[in-house]
Amino acid sequence: MKLYLYNSLTRSKVEFKAVQPGQVGLYTCGPTVYNFAHIGNLRTYIFEDILRRVLLYNGYRVKHVMNITDVGHLTGDRDMGEDKMERRALREGRTAWEIAEFYTQAFKNDIKNLNILPPDIWVKATDTIDEQIALIKTLEEKGYTYRTSDGVYFDTSKFKDYTKLSHQKLESLQEGARVEKNPEKRNPTDFALWKFSPHGVQRQMEWDSSWGVGFPGWHLECSVMSMKFLGDQLDIHCGGTDHIDVHHTNEIAQSEAATGRPFFKWWMHGAFLIIAGGKKMAKSEGNFLTLDHAFVKAGIHPLVYRFAAFQTHYRKPMEYSDESVQAARNGLSHLQNQIRQIAGAGADPQNNISAEHKNKFLEAVNDDLNMPRAMAAVQELLKSNINDGQKYTTILDFDRVLGLDLDNLAQHEDLPSEVQKLVDARQKARDAREWEASDRLRDEIQALGYMVQDTPEGMKVIKT
Ligand SMILES: [Zn+2]
Repeated sequence: MKLYLYNSLTRSKVEFKAVQPGQVGLYTCGPTVYNFAHIGNLRTYIFEDILRRVLLYNGYRVKHVMNITDVGHLTGDRDMGEDKMERRALREGRTAWEIAEFYTQAFKNDIKNLNILPPDIWVKATDTIDEQIALIKTLEEKGYTYRTSDGVYFDTSKFKDYTKLSHQKLESLQEGARVEKNPEKRNPTDFALWKFSPHGVQRQMEWDSSWGVGFPGWHLECSVMSMKFLGDQLDIHCGGTDHIDVHHTNEIAQSEAATGRPFFKWWMHGAFLIIAGGKKMAKSEGNFLTLDHAFVKAGIHPLVYRFAAFQTHYRKPMEYSDESVQAARNGLSHLQNQIRQIAGAGADPQNNISAEHKNKFLEAVNDDLNMPRAMAAVQELLKSNINDGQKYTTILDFDRVLGLDLDNLAQHEDLPSEVQKLVDARQKARDAREWEASDRLRDEIQALGYMVQDTPEGMKVIKT
């Protein structure tokens, strides 16, 4: 069946064709690890996970690269302001490297909790400094750069089609860029390739270069890493819609200027999360919720958030409120109950997936990842008259895309809060190697009708 995806570059939904038949190179912009990801950021990673799973479901092999921005992302996206990492380090009294490590782990933990498949390749910006310097040299040789007192800049007026992704008039982009003034820039949209360490200040993260000691501009890493790890397989590049005007526009300009060839063919962007009242969730708005706080610590399984994200198409803003979380919680628990009822029949021994229902599901996900329609196809399957074994086999097949761990339901029930408290306390006791306390808590949990198992992946709690 044909797979249709919306391409931000052409602003159209067209049939997807990989550069090399049968395999797809996928690049997704990763987090800047100076803070926790908020659930609005995580919505984008869920959309990208669905994309990857749908590609796999369609039989493609996928090579997925994600960067970790651990240097060079300034508080202003247009190369002004402080370095987010160094500022955080100062505030927390830790080194920038420790901050990066801590928030990278937190991010990996979030995506694990959301059942997001990890990329095949993780790359840190600080691990590709040499390649980033080499790319600036190429741009310099080709006449795209100029120096100012604070860095080396890309001259956007020399790259025609600078606005081909944003589809904005250059004047309106420049208007936006003027907000952060840098009088030495030739054009307001020009961006830093290399920033010098400020005079008299020893940055924690800085490198030598032929232009002077400093650090790379934020956009550079994604150009370098995608070309380094995907080679000619530059199929799909993703991020949030907020990346379109500056980050992705600049990536395209510097990559195509350097190679003289088109960069990625497909650009896909996930829309914002809007919290009740109509504001987008953003760290800068000071209104951000983390997965850990809003779900894990609140005793709500994080997969509830994954399920919630399926209710809105990824290109539409998603509304978030206590009510929408509650609705998703009920919806997921209803789905789990429906599946528990048919699970007893076991998977169909002939592995007989219902072709009719699979077609409907595939049609939905292949229509630009239409998850609301896919969830309707799930309900249609569960309410149909086919036998339970076939239903169960088919839903487990769908779960390759859904990623709701439907074959493993026992562990994913929301625990009653008193049980969750005991489980958390037992985890703490185990971390502190207090085995007696741990055993006592296990007995208390058991008395409430739950059994704990310690497995290599961690503690599992099963209703008895
Ligand atoms: Zn990026």
